[in-house]
Amino acid sequence: MSYTEQIFCLKTEQIHQQITNIRNLVNRFNDYQQLRSFIQLISDELENSTKIIEQKKSEMTDFDILISKKDHIPRRIKEIFSKIMDTLGNQETRLMKMEQILSQMSIWESQRKGTSILSNKHKALEKFGNEMCNVMKITTPVISNFGTEFRSIPCESFTFHLAGYITNLPETIANQIDGWPILAHELGHVYHHENYAQIKENINNPLELQIRKLGIPKEDADEMIDIWNGHWIPELVSDVIATLILGPAYVEKVVVDAFGMAPTEFSPPPDSHPPWKIRVDLILEVIRKLNLTDYEIHEKMFLWKEYKEIFAEKIDPKVLNLFINGQTVQKASDLITSSIQIAPIKNIWENVLAIKNGSSIENHSMLDLISMYFLENDLEKRSVLERAISAKC
Ligand SMILES: [Zn+2]
Repeated sequence: MSYTEQIFCLKTEQIHQQITNIRNLVNRFNDYQQLRSFIQLISDELENSTKIIEQKKSEMTDFDILISKKDHIPRRIKEIFSKIMDTLGNQETRLMKMEQILSQMSIWESQRKGTSILSNKHKALEKFGNEMCNVMKITTPVISNFGTEFRSIPCESFTFHLAGYITNLPETIANQIDGWPILAHELGHVYHHENYAQIKENINNPLELQIRKLGIPKEDADEMIDIWNGHWIPELVSDVIATLILGPAYVEKVVVDAFGMAPTEFSPPPDSHPPWKIRVDLILEVIRKLNLTDYEIHEKMFLWKEYKEIFAEKIDPKVLNLFINGQTVQKASDLITSSIQIAPIKNIWENVLAIKNGSSIENHSMLDLISMYFLENDLEKRSVLERAISAKC
């Protein structure tokens, strides 16, 4: 057996193992239809592929043709797989790519093998994510993965073009309800991706026009457009979406955390995120406009203004004049707030206030309970809500 064949066999073995893991995973999460159908399709298809690989490993040449001619493969999966096959040069790379996706799934599974409380929390977080996907009308399948960093990864980065999204939250965050609002931001990226054509037309294009009219050198304008449209707009759209979905819960998490960070700082451009000054100003503006009864935002706005002033003198003049110049920031904020029209928190706010005023927490949705959790200052009541949230899985 040649060296390539040995590697090949080993990888096939691993794929078998992964498929078994996925099957177990799928069986354990019967309730999560969206997730289940996504994993099921991939898992079935990988099983088929593995069979073909087994048959074909001694005569590797017509693997591509076989895959693309198989008629019983669902159309969508066929598309996904033919894309992979198109872009990957040799069989080993193809298997490697499959493994990348499988390993995401196995991480997802293994991290649910902890204690039962941990596992319930994760399932509850999953449910919370599902409720948010529903209110955002997200149709792309989303896999939540608990790892080490915050990320929202379109599966196209794994050549699974438009097949789904993997949102990644740090394990420590996943275990603490206090960190959960960040998931709303990560799902906001999925919303941005799904609605990109409209966002480009309503936000990116007019912003680009406005930047071109600033009368700055072309190079600077190009750089600004790259940063705004490539990085900052997706982040700000995600912030606005998260604020509209969670309201105070997002504000209490993100804005309160931002008080510990320099508001205008960003590492040398192009940076992936806008400085906190821009993000928090926008989030506060959105929540102020929602005008939710019994939620006081003006004091936070006042404190934030004071906080920004402490740092005001230290801003790099190039940054001030270009990337965070008032005209562009204002234009971007206006375009984003006028283009995104959803406001789910408005729809559930009465339920949240009902819990606040003593209604039983029994029949409330995850979104109601989490919104209330972030309004509650009483530690004992918070832990009652936390138990109710963990039990909702
Ligand atoms: Zn983001």
